[in-house]
Order: sequence, then structure tokens, then C-alpha cells
Amino acid sequence: MSYKSDIEIAREARKRPILEIGEKLGIGSSDLLPYGHDKAKVSQSFIDSVQSRENGKLVLVTAINPTPAGEGKTTTTVGLGDGLNKIGKNAMICIREASLGPNFGMKGGAAGGGMAQVVPMEDMNLHFTGDFHAITSAHSLLSAMIDNHIYWGNEAEIDVRRVQWKRVVDMNDRALRQITASLGGVANGFPREAGFDITVASEVMAILCLAKDLKDLEKRLGDMIVAYRRDRSPVFCRDIKAEGAMTVLLKDAMQPNLVQTLENNPAFVHGGPFANIAHGCNSVIATSTALKLTDYVVTEAGFGADLGAEKFMNIKCRKAGLAPSVVVCVATVRAMKMNGGVAKADLGAENVAAVEAGCPNLGRHIENLKSFGVPVVVAINHFVTDTDAEVQAVKDYVASQGAEAVLSRHWELGSEGSSDLARKVVEVAEKGEADFAPIYPDAMPLAEKIQTIAKNIYRADEAVMDQKILGQLKLWEEQGYGDLPVCMAKTQYSFSTDPNQRGAPTGFTVPVREVRLSAGAGFIVAVCGEIMTMPGLPRVPSAENIRLNDEGQIEGLF
Ligand code: ADP
Ligand code: MG
Repeated sequence: MSYKSDIEIAREARKRPILEIGEKLGIGSSDLLPYGHDKAKVSQSFIDSVQSRENGKLVLVTAINPTPAGEGKTTTTVGLGDGLNKIGKNAMICIREASLGPNFGMKGGAAGGGMAQVVPMEDMNLHFTGDFHAITSAHSLLSAMIDNHIYWGNEAEIDVRRVQWKRVVDMNDRALRQITASLGGVANGFPREAGFDITVASEVMAILCLAKDLKDLEKRLGDMIVAYRRDRSPVFCRDIKAEGAMTVLLKDAMQPNLVQTLENNPAFVHGGPFANIAHGCNSVIATSTALKLTDYVVTEAGFGADLGAEKFMNIKCRKAGLAPSVVVCVATVRAMKMNGGVAKADLGAENVAAVEAGCPNLGRHIENLKSFGVPVVVAINHFVTDTDAEVQAVKDYVASQGAEAVLSRHWELGSEGSSDLARKVVEVAEKGEADFAPIYPDAMPLAEKIQTIAKNIYRADEAVMDQKILGQLKLWEEQGYGDLPVCMAKTQYSFSTDPNQRGAPTGFTVPVREVRLSAGAGFIVAVCGEIMTMPGLPRVPSAENIRLNDEGQIEGLF
């Protein structure tokens, strides 16, 4: 049997007008700001008007460590949302927006897959409602104002060698990673080293996703550290007086975007921070608004549960006062096999022993997730090549870990295939067993927070930090940043810092290379490995195959 590609399925979607989707949520037409016929932003006055309502139940979708075999977190998030609606629950999903640049490299789209997708997928993977362009503009305004400040006399005494604020563009362009700015003579300013990140790595993105409202956004933008003086004291965005104008540029980008699934169920697609140097989940404003509108809200965290779910809980939930009722951990037979040592080329053959050998990776994630006080359901995202014996091996293993695994066939069948998963999620959520708490208190010293994550989540012997890093953390504590949570930047492929160590490794340490302060977003970043904030394009970028066909449709996005 052959299957249609994601874009072919998306193109055949029977979309309902977006005003009708809004109506399902009780959002009147005057509170929806349509961007065409199938996308709309939700007005701030509507969001304000629902604040006194009770919250629905929050379901987090996370996964085992990613492998090249693919896990399908977004696909499962969408499938579960449709499944909940199918079994008669009032549910919606909240996911991230896609970064434009990586679509032209090698990455697939971010709208789900098969029969579990959000539409319009082409828009969502490209310009969408312009949010990321607005973020690029706001970020660039501050970049320009910093160099302009230096040009006109540098009253804030910025050390031009210590400007932290980079430039951004939403494109994979390795040539811009490190540049020299202001060349060409006196009229062009003071030459200095500079560089570009991709837009989603901007602190503005992280702030947009954590801010409660526009007031909070403006305050956080002002709090960002943009440079240091010769005496190492920080220069803030507010010293450059950029936060007001930046907020103006971000006014519409702050509003959640409403779209629909293939089955016409509502979805907020909003925000998209990096999952390494930032926390990697959709905006707080979208999630907390959704919780006022439906009984169930299904959302996704980036990467595997060791990074994505940990940050969702310790950063997003802590800061926004959110608490998940149940966590769905996505696993696939194929990924279990890869964790069990099978090469990608050999995934086609049945191999129950390899599935069993890979399961301890899943087991460790289940145990970790439970340590936040939240019950776990494992979703086996079914690939049509999986055999019954392989699926049974995962189920048996999960049962031995005190949880339950449900086979879900949403990719192939849509909500018809995810109803069992939805019923299990409802059963667990309605037992009300969740008693969520972050795994470290605000008051814990910063170095200890890093140790706690390394030991309790990664199961490392310890995090290794030299005197320079410990001294930096102490200094931030003295400056009043000690209460911040820690955002770990580490490879997503392993519990350890070595991407080749799959499964459930032990007997390793986590070397912390560098620590950074995201004072506006409100976290300390601990960098544990090579972290790429400006990706490049592969030898044959997918851009070479992306084009418009004779009907004016987009070909080559996937
Ligand atoms: P993640 O959110 O974990 O990065 P996605 O849900 O975006 O993963 O899925 C990645 C890719 O894998 C998509 O192209 C999707 O179509 C494909 N995929 C997901 N689940 C399945 C499945 N069960 N069978 C086949 N392909 C799948
Ligand atoms: Mg995803």
C-alpha cells in the first residue's frame, strides 16, 4: 500500500472558515483578526475577558531521545487532540510555529504528519502570520540602536569588544555566523566583531513565549543585557531605550494564532523558541488562554523528555503557574530498535530483541517524568512497518515500569486511530492523581540546580564546573539572579553529552563549558556541548526542490 505525502494530504484538507473554528471556542468574529480565510489572531480583549474561568486539563506530549528514525511528537499531539474530540471531549492543541529557514535545508515541516496535521501547513512552515518577521524586526531595531548609540558618543560606555547582542535573520546562513560590522570609514561607525543567530534563537523569541502580556513583554525586553562596560558592569536594553519601540513591533505577534487540524478541531500555533539555549515550547499566552477555552489542552515540548519536558516543567510551568494533569511520552518501535543498537538501514526487519534492548531509554524517561508528580502514559506512535511482536515488547516493558503503553495509529487513520490513546489519557487525567512540582526550588543555589538536573534527570555522576563558571554563577546570585531556573543546552540525542551514547547510559559526567544569563527571558543557560545558534544548509538543500507547480501550488515542502 502506498501513502500520500504530508503536503498532498494537507492540500486535500476540507478546511472550515476560521471564523467557524473560532465559534467552536466561543470567540466571536469581532475578537478574531483573520489573516486570510484559514488563520486568525485572537484579540487581547477576548483573552482578558476569559481570565476568571476555570482551567481545563493540560496534557504534555514529550518523547524518548530523538533518533534519525523519527518519533512524531507533533504528529501525536495533533492526533491526540483529534482523538479527544472524537470521543466527545472538548479539546484543542497548542504547538510551536515553524522557523522558515530550516525548511530550505533538510528539516521536515512542523505541522505534524499523515492524517494528523495542522493546516494550512504551507503557510505555517513559511511566513504564517508574520510573527517571526516581527521578532526579526524588533531584534534588528535593538541591534541598530546599539551601534547607533556607540556612533553618537557611547554615553552608556559600552565596551565595543563586549557587545553581547547579536543580529538575527530567519535563514540558515553559516556565512553570517561571525562577521565584522561597521567597515568603510568614519561615517559607518566603529568597526567591531559581530555575528548573526537564526531568529528563533533570539532572546526576544524566548521572552515573547514566556511573557504574560504586553506590559510584561516590555519589562522583560528592557531587562535584557545587551553589552558590558570595561568594568564588566551590564548595559541593559533599557539603557538603550529600545524596549518601547520593540513592544510596538511585537504588538500583534504577541496574540495567539488560531488554525485547525485536518479534522477541523482548533489549534493555537504560537511562538517557537530554540529548545537548547531556550526552553523550546509554544507561548504561555497561547497555552494559558487555551486552558480557559476547552476541557483538554494538548501541547508539545521540543526534543526528548530529558530536555524538552524538563524545561517545560521547570521553566514554563513554574513561571506561568501551569500544571500538567498527565504526560504522554511518545515512543516508536523504530526508535527503540535504534536505541537497541540497530542501524537505520536495518530498521525494516523484525527485531524484538533490539526493541527490548532499547527500552531502558524509555524507562528512564518514564521514571523522570513521574518525579515531577505527574502520571505518564506511553503512546506508541505506530509505523505501518511495526510488527505485533515488537509492539507487544514495548507494552510489556512499559507495564513492568508501572505505566501503560497504548498503540496509536493517528498517522494512518486520524482520530479513528487515536481514540484508544485519548480514552486512556482521559481516564488517567480524571483520576486526578497529578501533584505537580518542579524538581528544584527557586531558592536553590544556581550551581546546585545544574547538579540536580544532571544527576536526577540525566543520571550523570556530576556536572563538572570550573572555578570561572562557579564564580560567574556566584556573581549572578549576588546581583539578584539567583532565583532563576536553569535552561540546559545539551545534545538531544543522549542523556549524556555524547550524542552517540543511546539507551540509558551511566558512568559519565556533564561538563559545563559556559554559562549565559538571559535576564529578560528569566533563565540561566548552561551550555554543555557544541550549540549551534545559526545553522547551515546541507550540500543539497531542500530549497533546490521547492518550487511552484503549474497550478501555483507549492511543491517540495515536507
Ligand atoms: P517531532 O515533533 O517529534 O519532531 P513530527 O511529528 O514532526 O516529529 O514527525 C516527524 C516526521 O515523521 C513527519 O514528517 C511525520 O510525517 C513523520 N511521522 C510521524 N509519525 C509517523 C508515523 N506513525 N508513520 C510514518 N511517518 C510518521
Ligand atoms: Mg515537533
